[in-house]
Amino acid sequence: MAQTRTQTLIQTHILGFPRIGAKRELKFALEKYWRGDSTIHELEDVAKQLRAKHWAIQKESGLEWVTVGDFAFYDHIANHIQLLGCEPARFKFNEKDGELERYFTMARGRIDAKHQEHSEGSHACATHGQSELSASLEASAALEMTKWFDTNYHYLVPEFTIATEFALNSNRLFNEVNEALALGHEVKVVLQGPLSFLWLGKVKHTDNQPQDFDRLDLLEKLLPVYDQILARLHQLGVKWVQIDEPILGLDLPHAWRNAYEPTYIRLSQNRVQILLATYFSPLEENLRQVCQLPIAGLHIDAIKAPHELTSVVDWLPLNKILSLGVIDGRNIWRTDLDAVCEQLKPIIEKRGAHLWLAPSCSLLHVPVSLEHEDKMDAELKSWLSFACEKLNELQIVKQALNEGDHEGNKATAEALEQARKAVSSRRNSKRVHRENVKARVTALTETDDTRHSSFKTRQTLQRKHFSLPNFPTTTIGSFPQTSEIRVARAAFKNQQISAEHYEAKMREEIGHAVRRQEELGIDVLVHGEAERNDMVEYFGEQLQGFVFTQYGWVQSYGSRCVKPPIIYGDVFRASPMTVEWSKYAQSLTSKPMKGMLTGPITILQWSFVRDDQPRKETALQIALAIRDEVVDLERAGIRMIQIDEPAIREGLPLRHKDWKNYLNWATRAFRISASGVEDLTQIHTHMCYSEFNDILPHIAAMDADVITIETSRSNMELLEGFGTFAYPNEIGPGVYDIHSPRIPSTDEMFQLLEKAARVIPVENLWVNPDCGLKTRGWSETETALANMVAAAKLARKHLVKEPQKAH
Ligand code: GLN
Ligand code: ZN
Repeated sequence: MAQTRTQTLIQTHILGFPRIGAKRELKFALEKYWRGDSTIHELEDVAKQLRAKHWAIQKESGLEWVTVGDFAFYDHIANHIQLLGCEPARFKFNEKDGELERYFTMARGRIDAKHQEHSEGSHACATHGQSELSASLEASAALEMTKWFDTNYHYLVPEFTIATEFALNSNRLFNEVNEALALGHEVKVVLQGPLSFLWLGKVKHTDNQPQDFDRLDLLEKLLPVYDQILARLHQLGVKWVQIDEPILGLDLPHAWRNAYEPTYIRLSQNRVQILLATYFSPLEENLRQVCQLPIAGLHIDAIKAPHELTSVVDWLPLNKILSLGVIDGRNIWRTDLDAVCEQLKPIIEKRGAHLWLAPSCSLLHVPVSLEHEDKMDAELKSWLSFACEKLNELQIVKQALNEGDHEGNKATAEALEQARKAVSSRRNSKRVHRENVKARVTALTETDDTRHSSFKTRQTLQRKHFSLPNFPTTTIGSFPQTSEIRVARAAFKNQQISAEHYEAKMREEIGHAVRRQEELGIDVLVHGEAERNDMVEYFGEQLQGFVFTQYGWVQSYGSRCVKPPIIYGDVFRASPMTVEWSKYAQSLTSKPMKGMLTGPITILQWSFVRDDQPRKETALQIALAIRDEVVDLERAGIRMIQIDEPAIREGLPLRHKDWKNYLNWATRAFRISASGVEDLTQIHTHMCYSEFNDILPHIAAMDADVITIETSRSNMELLEGFGTFAYPNEIGPGVYDIHSPRIPSTDEMFQLLEKAARVIPVENLWVNPDCGLKTRGWSETETALANMVAAAKLARKHLVKEPQKAH
């Protein structure tokens, strides 16, 4: 019998929806609750309404199921810690502690240890690990937080010991399933897979644990809880459970790869159907094995691994569901729907009805909706697609493919036509393509990324010119962003005060920062960054090729969101961005004033980037724009210029084999931004994380004259790498942790310097905090810096050997 053309062939779903709310409703509800201004019931109520709203959007977009289990008050991995009953014993929770109370304690630390809460910067530093905890902090410190794969989202790291037990003792997930069912939805549940969950956790060292304890050994204890969860879901009437195993796209050790088969043989004995979801990266050596697992369906990220589609289509048995992530879940561009349909047609021919379509990964990584963007110009807006618009795109593709040409559905044809127009207007727009910018990148030569002379020559010249003491002191750039500064900025943005008024206020702040640094006796000064909201936004707003949204918020961690700029076109600098501020700051002091810029890779990493050219190309354009600024700063008399690159490490590809290529172009982009100056001009860079050792040769290849880095939390241990590798240039290992208001003593900082001096030649050492001070208050900052300056003086006295007298 001939198939009826209206029969649904293709179905649609999503892996997850942003939880924070189109207007950050969850953020505000959380912060209100944390301040003590609302009850737990009020908070739960906001959450319930958000879930209902997000499910309704999914249903209206014609998805076959709403996804349940993607909601979290803070983080989905933290949810799983509770769902799987493995809250770390160190918290010493007792029976009186409510579930949500324990949850927030794990996420934020104990309230009486408020200083342990994760830092408040708009951009989180790469990790917030507190690896060296004193016993007293043990019970109160929050779980470590770290980046979720190669995204800008941060998850809370599960902690494991040999004694970790698992038990099903949370009903939250099941209650949410009931909530969705009561609203009349078809439900698909999402769970973090057991292997990914264990992999993402960290072994906490304890006394009675063998050194070689491997968290994979916990799998046997963990799987019975998954069985129980799946059984409960089945009882509730759930037919499909999406189990996320994103680690299948990583370089996994054999033992972990081999664990997949027995794990999924076991889980598939349960009566729910399992859709195994992978994303963010091609599966490569794991692909064939995954296709053979006894699961009911497999999701593949067709954006990150388009080249694997042919193999999956062939290898995945025909009776299994193939879910293809054809809409980019990591970016905000409108999809070329024609191209997607073309890509899918041969697959449909081969596989017939067992095809689901979805965004490539959870929509957690994109903003909720374009609906409220009423200030953006219409053309630019027509090029974009946020979570809600992506759902719409899915529906159009589904309708187009299911209806074929036979129905001639007018609405679908119109929707396709609109998408076509938007895609073609972006492709051909003069606002996107600037021939002169492209030509400048093409014209870059081998020598554009090298300084005139070698570091040694530059160092000699610079030493003579600046004549700094040994162990020179400096800070990383920002000083406390007081409420006064924030109020002034908001008033200026809302046009309540004039530009002159605002600028006068900022000059006053700069003057203030300069005076305090002089009083403290710091050697190399900064202007304090009072005029900057965020280190990427500030530059994005002044560069061409960037656009900003009003509500394009994406969750970074907990209640923290970032609003990444969108790079839509070729990037260039129309006029100087920081020169006037730096010149003014330098005019107030005879000490060297560092110019302060954000580097090309950090700007790239913390923005939504173009998908119509390689990242590398965009990075080079930004690098040239920053280079122009560096050269102008030098011309204005600024002879020390810091180019911050805190995000260089987070740009590392998920697969090790791709690292080298990335590091080569990333460090080249940095060097291009830094190499337009004379030998005498000292280039600084700053990075705020403590895992360097695996990329040290590349950090050295950036050839900054001075690098300042985070080290105090790791007790200078990371410096061993710098010693072994013999890092050639000058270096300022952070001597105090700015993430905590605790004021370090002079002695403590001196001891860190002493440690540093064991591995790094003293004449190459600088003295500075770990990172910028914008989240701190002035009084703690002043005391801490006074102690730091005193520590530097001690170091000069005790750690510098008298020059050998000639006999
Ligand atoms: N210069 C910046 C500051 O001090 C650096 C911030 C960062 O490293 N994330 O705030
Ligand atoms: Zn930093």
